[in-house]
Amino acid sequence: MIHGEIHLHVRQYINGRWETSATTGVSANPSDTSEVVAEYARADRRQAEAAIRAATEAFPHWSHSTPQRRADVLDRIGAELLARKDELGLLLAREEGKTLPEAVAEVARAGQIFKFFAGEAIRGGAGGGGGENVASVRAGVQVDVTREPVGVVGLITPWNSPFVIPAWKIAPALAHGNSVVFKPAELVPACGWVLAEIISRAALPAGAFNLVMGSGREVGQALVDSALVDALSFTGSVANGERILQIAAARRAKVQLETGGKNALVVLADADLDRAVDCAVQGAYFSAGQRCTASSRLIVEAPVHDAFVAKLRQRLKALKIGHALERGIDIGPVADEERLAQNLAWVGIAREEGAEHVWGGEALERATRGHYMSPALFLAKPSHRIAREEVFGPLACVLRADDYDEALALCNDTPFGLCAGICTNSLKHAMHFRRHAVVGMTMVNLPTAGVDFHVPFGGRKGSGYGPREQGRHAAEFYTTVKTGYMLA
Ligand code: NAD
Repeated sequence: MIHGEIHLHVRQYINGRWETSATTGVSANPSDTSEVVAEYARADRRQAEAAIRAATEAFPHWSHSTPQRRADVLDRIGAELLARKDELGLLLAREEGKTLPEAVAEVARAGQIFKFFAGEAIRGGAGGGGGENVASVRAGVQVDVTREPVGVVGLITPWNSPFVIPAWKIAPALAHGNSVVFKPAELVPACGWVLAEIISRAALPAGAFNLVMGSGREVGQALVDSALVDALSFTGSVANGERILQIAAARRAKVQLETGGKNALVVLADADLDRAVDCAVQGAYFSAGQRCTASSRLIVEAPVHDAFVAKLRQRLKALKIGHALERGIDIGPVADEERLAQNLAWVGIAREEGAEHVWGGEALERATRGHYMSPALFLAKPSHRIAREEVFGPLACVLRADDYDEALALCNDTPFGLCAGICTNSLKHAMHFRRHAVVGMTMVNLPTAGVDFHVPFGGRKGSGYGPREQGRHAAEFYTTVKTGYMLA
């Protein structure tokens, strides 16, 4: 049981052992910066390389484990996450700043993901079900197509969803028989550690799962550079993703990137306006807008533009921003001082470019010293930087469209392509939008943020690269296909 008020001392998990490092770092509570959440060992390149070697040595053993064994391991991890969701949600809210209900829901979802992949280990995992027996075009020959684990996978994750993003990489990696080196983001070491601690008690062979906490430049880069790492799954910024892709592709490692978003929510004149405002508030501002699926572009058809903006402004005025553990809070702080400064700089850029300010965008003071800001709304032009670049904070802009065709064109006029939503009562427009929005995920009369755990997640264009994550499709990345021919 992790108590809220005591800070944790967390270490690396390498080859089945807990290790200290030469240097340490701390994570602080973004709702109250006087509170240290964890003091953590900061791995160096040497430790990252030791973790990679351990994973390499464990691979033959783990990759030949039975589907039942893998299912049991994953089921145990999932069950513990679900049983401890309130306690671990508290830790997540303290370290990352999500409100407590959001944080508890995230831990529960991480548990459900492990449970889902426990089933996948048997249903469709490497060595499990899901292979194909195919008739050969030649007489007397039998053909089968099977899936095998890829090898050692390096998993590099961002700070904004420190349970669920690691879960949706670690669970399929292990389910399909790969060994893992996991590097969480530096802002959230305690969340990474607690997940590793649960995994460490789930009867995996030593080295099949390793945790290395440290900087992206040193520890993350060691995973990217190592010839022993067969596949890299990265979620984070576009710039880092592109760098990783170039290096990893040059040595022919398998790469999967989930990078930024500039997701649109289209509101047509026939929409239920209250529902549309609800979708906008949840999608753009909850979790302080720090979600890759946040709807940061609200594209509104001209006849309802002014009414939508007025209603949204009223809702933003009523939102409660405060300490992530306070009851009744809608939005917690942003993750750290640097993000707050960046968000405020974006507000400045929006004003300088001539976007019309509607609401918010100011730093707020609360009883505790934290990184609080009011949700910001601007009326923008498609050429404005706040309408084109990812902010990753509680800032959205409204773009006016004359009709559905212009709304769809604006929606697709972006270098990103993660998800897009539409609020409408027209089946014709909903169906057309689902087909023509150039994204990985579409939403009709739902917020752009908030997805199921058993179906593919991911985007197109600047938002993603490689096969999708989650659900059965995760097998595309975490396995490799083998075709076997035999004379009957
Ligand atoms: P980031 O790119 O700064 O860091 C992500 C991870 O990469 C961290 O663990 C970091 O330490 C590591 N890293 C940094 N440099 C590295 C290097 N040279 N080699 C290897 N690893 C390195 O991103 P962030 O600020 O932590 O996260 C915010 C970004 O993540 C946003 O752009 C957001 O859109 C994106 N994101 C995307 C999704 C998605 O699924 N599409 C989900 C959540 C967040």
